[in-house]
Amino acid sequence: MRNDRVHYDQVIVGAGISGLTLAHHLADVLAPEQRILLLDKDDDPDYNISFWLDGEAPFAPIMAGSWRRIELRHGQRRTVCPLERYALHAFWRDDFDAYLHAELGAHPNVDLLEAEVLAVEDHGDHAEIETREGRVHADWVFDSRSSLDGIRDADPDLLLMQGLALEIEAETACFDPELATLFDFLLDSPQFDFMYLLPYTERRALVNAAFVTPFATRVSREHCAEVIDRYLADRFGCSRYRVTRQSFGRLPLASRFPERRPGSRVLPIGVRSGMIKASTSYAFTRILADSRRIAASMAKTGQPYYRARTAWYYRAADRRSARIFQRSPALAQELMFGMFTPERGDLALAFLDERNDLAENRRLFEAVPPETLKRFLRQLLGLGGGAPVASERTA
Ligand SMILES: Cc1cc2nc3c(=O)[nH]c(=O)nc-3n(C[C@H](O)[C@H](O)[C@H](O)COP(=O)(O)OP(=O)(O)OC[C@H]3O[C@@H](n4cnc5c(N)ncnc54)[C@H](O)[C@@H]3O)c2cc1C
Repeated sequence: MRNDRVHYDQVIVGAGISGLTLAHHLADVLAPEQRILLLDKDDDPDYNISFWLDGEAPFAPIMAGSWRRIELRHGQRRTVCPLERYALHAFWRDDFDAYLHAELGAHPNVDLLEAEVLAVEDHGDHAEIETREGRVHADWVFDSRSSLDGIRDADPDLLLMQGLALEIEAETACFDPELATLFDFLLDSPQFDFMYLLPYTERRALVNAAFVTPFATRVSREHCAEVIDRYLADRFGCSRYRVTRQSFGRLPLASRFPERRPGSRVLPIGVRSGMIKASTSYAFTRILADSRRIAASMAKTGQPYYRARTAWYYRAADRRSARIFQRSPALAQELMFGMFTPERGDLALAFLDERNDLAENRRLFEAVPPETLKRFLRQLLGLGGGAPVASERTA
C-alpha cells in the first residue's frame, strides 16, 4: 500500500466486535462494486461475550449456548424467570473473529488489512486515514479505536468492570443446562459485584466473576479464581472441575463519549461511540442494532446516519444509575433483583435494553418493593438516599 493513494468507499478502523459486525451488515446490503476495507493493528485477546436478544441470534454457528430460563439470586432469595420474547446467548471472541474473517474473506469487495492506524482526518466530503503502511482515501470512515486516554478526566466517577470467565468441565453433573444464572449478587463484597453461570450441559458451564469497582481499584485474577472456586462449591456442589477455556479482562464503564456529528465523514462506532451501557456493562446488543441501522441507512440514503429511537430519559437515567451503583451497591442489587419476577423476565430485559415505553416501565416497577423504588428514585433525582433498605450493608 505504501506510496499509493488507495481509495475505498467504506473504511472500518478496528476489526473487533463492532468493526466486524458492521462489515458483515455493510457487505450484506451494499452493491458489490462498493469497496470495504477493514484495518486492524493486531490480534485481540480471547474473551467471552454474553447478551440477550429478542429474535433470532446472529452468527448462530459460533454461539456456545442459548437459554430461555434465567434465574437471579440474592443471598438465599431466588427468582426464576421463563422467557418468551428474549433469549440469553454467549460466544467467545476468538470464535467470532475466525467466523467473520472467513465470511468476509468470501466477499470480493471486502479487504482485511493488518495496519496500525495513526490518524483519521475528516475533510468534509471525504476522509483520509494515515496508517503505518500508507494513506487511504475513503468516502466514509467508521472508527472503533478505543483508548483509556482522557476517559478518566472526562468522567471522574468512572467505574471499571473487571472479572474472570472460566469455561469448566465438572467431574459430576452439577448444572441444569436449561437454566442460566444471570445475576447472583455477591452480598459480602463492597461493590455491585456478581457471578453469572451459563450451563452448556450438566457438566460443562461458563462461570464468570464480575467486579464493578472505582477506576483505580484492581482486582487480581487470583482473587477472581478463588471467588469462582468457592462459588461453584457452595452454590452448585461442584468442587472438582477442569478449566477448558478462560479469559480475564477489564472494561471501563464509560458513558460519556463524543457524540456523532451529522455531516461528518468519520463516525465513531462500538465502545468508542459509547455503546457500553454503564449500568450493566453490556454492549453487544447495542453494537448489533447500531450496525444494522448504519448499514440499512447506507443502503437507503447513501448516508450512515439514522434516527435514534431510544427515549431520552434512558440515557440520562443510565449515567446516574451507574453512579448510584457505585455509591449504594446494596440498593442497586435490591432494585435489580426486585425487577425480575417470574412474570416479568422479558419486561425487565427489555427495560435494560431501553426498549420499554413508560406504561411498560410502570408495570415493571410495580413489582419492586416500594421502599427500594422510592429510595432509588430519590437518589436518581438527586434528592438524597431516603431510608436504607433492609439488606443495606455497612461496608
Ligand atoms: C473482557 C471483556 C468482556 C466483555 N463482555 C461482554 C459481554 O459479556 N457482553 C457484552 O455485551 N459486552 C461485553 N464486553 C463489552 C464489548 O462488547 C466489547 O468490549 C467489544 O469488544 C466492543 O467492541 P468494539 O468494536 O468497540 O471494541 P473491540 O472489539 O476492542 O475492537 C476495537 C479494535 O480496534 C483495534 N485497534 C485499536 N487501535 C487501533 C489502531 N490504532 N489501528 C488499528 N486498529 C486498532 C483493536 O485491535 C481492536 O481489534 C466485554 C468487554 C471486555 C473487554
